[in-house]
Amino acid sequence: KAKSLGKNDYRMFSPEMHLHSREDLLMESDLRNAMDREELILYYQPIVDVTDGSIACFEALIRWKHPESGLLSPGRFIPLAERTGLIVPIGEWVIREACRQHQEWKRQGLPPTQICVNISAQQFLKKNFVQTIAGALEAYDINPKYLDIEITESMAMDFTYAENVLRELRSLGLHLSMDDFGTGYSSLYYLKRFNIQTLKIDKTFIDDLAGESNDSVLISTMLAMADTLGMKAVAEGVESKEQLDRLLEAGSPLIQGFYFSPPLSPGTIQRTYTELTDTIKRKAGKGVDLH
Ligand code: C2E
Ligand code: MG
Ligand code: MG
Ligand code: MG
Repeated sequence: KAKSLGKNDYRMFSPEMHLHSREDLLMESDLRNAMDREELILYYQPIVDVTDGSIACFEALIRWKHPESGLLSPGRFIPLAERTGLIVPIGEWVIREACRQHQEWKRQGLPPTQICVNISAQQFLKKNFVQTIAGALEAYDINPKYLDIEITESMAMDFTYAENVLRELRSLGLHLSMDDFGTGYSSLYYLKRFNIQTLKIDKTFIDDLAGESNDSVLISTMLAMADTLGMKAVAEGVESKEQLDRLLEAGSPLIQGFYFSPPLSPGTIQRTYTELTDTIKRKAGKGVDLH
């Protein structure tokens, strides 16, 4: 109890204290081993282009196949990975693994599809960040246009640094997206200078599109802004036909969400690829190809 610690009460509420909790320590050592034991895996969620019902991108989303706790979503271990710095080696693994998967799907005869990868701020700040990406692209012989790096608004804090790194990434030929757009702080000036190609409009704004609130003012404003800046926009977290219809009325054709598909394991995607693409086409209101 905090009381019994007397003078040191304040420690109970410091962020460092969190690092030392028993549960954290156990989980930290588990997480350190997880990469070696190949317990970390990437699931992939389609981003759909409703204009033709095609898959514009697969977003790579990490999961941990924990030996006792089952499949853990990133919300359960990414915060710990951030606090302990483990996010850096994990993030490097994510980049290589996404490239490896892209190559494997190519070998299996699936049509080449862009892969979006989430980047953490700590990873972004590492001196070898661009080199890590360039190395993975080369190792798996991936055309850089197939890799989309998702950054967040927090990475714009050191403007000059961010601008330089993003310029290097763009000159490699990669695609850049701003994730969770609208939840942080980013000015139009940043977006333009950073050469971001896609804004991913956060789910919180999509949630307002149906039911009682049914408010599309912010969405329409963000879409108009993206358009003015020559950027694309993706709507994240679309769960219903009603939301999809509102978005299409507002002029947003790039859709990600459970309405089309949850994140899937690579094995599921490979085994059910035809059904998956047919289902997506049908839900997008497009005729399916005859196979
Ligand atoms: P995010 O990048 O914004 O990813 C979208 C999240 O929304 C994913 O959660 C996805 O499963 C979820 N989602 C997609 N469509 C729907 C929907 O229709 N309804 C609902 N309720 N949720 C939907 P997930 O996989 O749990 O990932 C959460 C966050 O963890 C990600 O948010 C991202 O910030 C982070 N993350 C995931 N993978 C990585 C990674 O490899 N590296 C880093 N640094 N962060 C990651
Ligand atoms: Mg993302
Ligand atoms: Mg997002
Ligand atoms: Mg999000």
